[in-house]
Amino acid sequence: MIEIKQNIAVIRKRILVACNRSGRPEEAVKLLLATKTVPAENIRIALEAGETLVGENKVQEVKSKYDFLKTIPHETHFIGHLQTNKVAEILKYATCIQSVDRMSLVQKLDQQLLKEGRSMDVFLQVNTSNEASKFGADPSEIHSFAREVSRYDTLKVRGLMTIGLFSAEEEKVRECFRLLREIKLELVEEQLPNFTLEELSMGMSGDMETAIEEGATLIRVGTAIFGQRSYPDSYYWNEDKEVR
Ligand SMILES: *Cc1c(COP(=O)(O)O)cnc(C)c1O
Repeated sequence: MIEIKQNIAVIRKRILVACNRSGRPEEAVKLLLATKTVPAENIRIALEAGETLVGENKVQEVKSKYDFLKTIPHETHFIGHLQTNKVAEILKYATCIQSVDRMSLVQKLDQQLLKEGRSMDVFLQVNTSNEASKFGADPSEIHSFAREVSRYDTLKVRGLMTIGLFSAEEEKVRECFRLLREIKLELVEEQLPNFTLEELSMGMSGDMETAIEEGATLIRVGTAIFGQRSYPDSYYWNEDKEVR
């Protein structure tokens, strides 16, 4: 499967070009492999090629791939919708939850982390595209949400995450990323406890250049590295939508 390595090289080149164009150093942008539905064998190829950051959307998938990948040093972030009843399980595997989007989840994470006597890195997910089908805190509520989250010492808020609008109109996609960056700047001003906010997780296979131009520090790329998935993304983004 030499293809995966070649695809990664292409993505690394795209990161470099986008960074050059926006006057940012290449090291300012981390690459996270978005590996939903990707077999562990293929993830292994990417890790052996030097990648170190994996993002999964389903607790069950993280679990089933764990044994095969555990001997290769890497970090797993959780980037999918997290049900509160899966919190204890995912904390065994993930070093960061990028999809913290509601107080019921914050409370559950806090409970479990207190039990384990530790803290954890999280990102707050913001629904910048205003699409009902996507998860994430509403931009109009993000400030009050952030203030509430800052009261929990178990959660270290390292950044914000968003999924941009799915659209061929680049300007509309860019607006989503710009909004996330603005929210970050506003929250930095507030100097909330437990917030460091060094990361902006935004940009995927189709819109990574736009995201980098708008300040992304972490892009999440799946399709452009591992090929098309057989499941539609709605399978990952719509099911089990909990009532807030
Ligand atoms: C699937 C997924 C990605 C990667 O999307 P691609 O278009 O395959 O690059 C990024 N972020 C999240 C949250 C995802 O679920």
